[in-house]
Amino acid sequence: MENIQLKKGKEKSILHRHPWLFSGAIDRQSDGLKNGDLVKINNSEGKFLAYGYFNGQSKISVRVLDWDENAKINKDWWKLKIQHSIEKRNSILAGKSCNSVRLIYSESDKLPGLIVDKYDQILVVQFLTLGIEMVKEEIIEILSELVKPKLIIEKSDAPARLLEGLKPIIRIAKGKESESLISILENNLKFWVDANLGQKSGYYLDQRENRKIVASYAKDKKVLDCFCYSGGFSIHALQAGATSVTGVDSSETALNAFEENLKLNNFTNKEVNLVEQDVFNYLRSLDKNTTDFDLIILDPPKLAPSRSSVDKAKKAYKELNLQAMKVLKSGGILATFSCSSAIDLETFKQIISWAATDAGVDVQFMHYFGQPIDHPILSSFPESEYLKGILCKIL
Ligand code: SAH
Repeated sequence: MENIQLKKGKEKSILHRHPWLFSGAIDRQSDGLKNGDLVKINNSEGKFLAYGYFNGQSKISVRVLDWDENAKINKDWWKLKIQHSIEKRNSILAGKSCNSVRLIYSESDKLPGLIVDKYDQILVVQFLTLGIEMVKEEIIEILSELVKPKLIIEKSDAPARLLEGLKPIIRIAKGKESESLISILENNLKFWVDANLGQKSGYYLDQRENRKIVASYAKDKKVLDCFCYSGGFSIHALQAGATSVTGVDSSETALNAFEENLKLNNFTNKEVNLVEQDVFNYLRSLDKNTTDFDLIILDPPKLAPSRSSVDKAKKAYKELNLQAMKVLKSGGILATFSCSSAIDLETFKQIISWAATDAGVDVQFMHYFGQPIDHPILSSFPESEYLKGILCKIL
């Protein structure tokens, strides 16, 4: 195996088990080292630190696979890692109230660059780095063997691939495309997932637990679900006895899926109002004197995709929350989320308190939301923490 030697003093992050090695830390590398190769990382004195895979085209030159010098990174190694990751999800699937989970979450499962979502009998797989791209056929074989899915779809089209010098790839890796539309089960409710090749529509598995918690406040309540997508929060709220639900999303496809999900759960007789509009404009257009929602959910897309966009995103989050507070009844509840990893919980709390001041209300933080166990947060890798939310009571 080829070698990399670090500059003196640059081994700290690897010793702290952070899985990324940036190019600036490298002093020397073996002549034969090629992009995508497995590599041994040594400190400035040549002492072993970790194994990883290398890509000189990326700012993240190496992603660590193993800190154990005795490890042999071969097909058996990948199989064992994948097996462990799958086993960790058994508790979610065991109760039979859910049949869909994230099976592998990249660095957090010690499998950098690999994301696998299981939608009942379908696997949707993303290979996000060159190192993982090199072993993808092996990984697909292992997944077939361990999970025995009907269909495996490769959806490697995330922008992160460009940073690795990779083009987007979307293809059927196993099975027939005609079987890509399925209904999944989450908390005993049903949702359509269209995992087909063309459109990017899956399901947001990371809100599974939060939907249950929010729904527990929905009985006899008038609910506004902003950025509703296919109705994840709304359908849970209806099941819990909400009197009405208004869902707002700018995507027609999402709202069509929402309609279909109402049918699928026999909720067509419920009071549901779907609005295809920009949420910012929708909230601003509401008459603050006559609008009186009891429960508002704000689950926007990632408004801060990078550190450099944080200031702009803070303003957008504040505006959203301010407008929502203005159309909530006194005593109402706001379930507000951010999936931007660049905005931490403390910053998010501060944003909510600025919005409360401007709205002229008091806010009690009743509960903090996070990520479910199939989207684990690795303590040595803070980048894996992205989803946060606060359940607020507006006084
Ligand atoms: N709450 C959803 C997931 C939300 S994902 C669930 O539980 O499944 C974010 C959604 O916001 C997407 O459906 C996207 O279409 C929508 N969206 C993005 N920008 C928007 C905007 N400015 N106004 C309205 N909807 C928007």
